[in-house]
Amino acid sequence: MQTTITRQQLLAQMQTSRYFTIQELVCSHVYQRFGNQSWQFIHTHLLHTLFQVRQGINKPIHINNWARGGSFSQRGLRCNLCQLASTKSANKQLYLSSHCLGAGVDFDVKGMSAPQVRSWIKQHQHLLPHPIRLESDVNWVHLDVYDMLNGKMINYFKG
Ligand SMILES: [Zn+2]
Repeated sequence: MQTTITRQQLLAQMQTSRYFTIQELVCSHVYQRFGNQSWQFIHTHLLHTLFQVRQGINKPIHINNWARGGSFSQRGLRCNLCQLASTKSANKQLYLSSHCLGAGVDFDVKGMSAPQVRSWIKQHQHLLPHPIRLESDVNWVHLDVYDMLNGKMINYFKG
């Protein structure tokens, strides 16, 4: 699929579609500081991929739910204050999760299991504008846009 959409057009498309709120895509630390400007932190390839998957699968996709009182706050962008990142730093461990670069998300699709979603994505990989990675064998869907530079549209990894 030929894609020449600009980042500006993608942001407009994401915001007008209302497929995702920015609170779903970032942690509460970031949203409290940057509000709607937090869109700036989401990688262009991730914006495009999420739009394509959401439009193609045509069911609600849920990322974070902290803004609605839920317990998920680290499924989108993770800042240095987020527990998963701060623990790594405290332990002097390297942490280059795609979540920290606005390049990855964890999500669920309404009415589908994680394996069903992963196989849907595989069957519809022609919709993908950029190579992605999917985490194998987890009961949520982790999708990121780290490019393994091997020519494959989907690479699988174990977390
Ligand atoms: Zn945070």
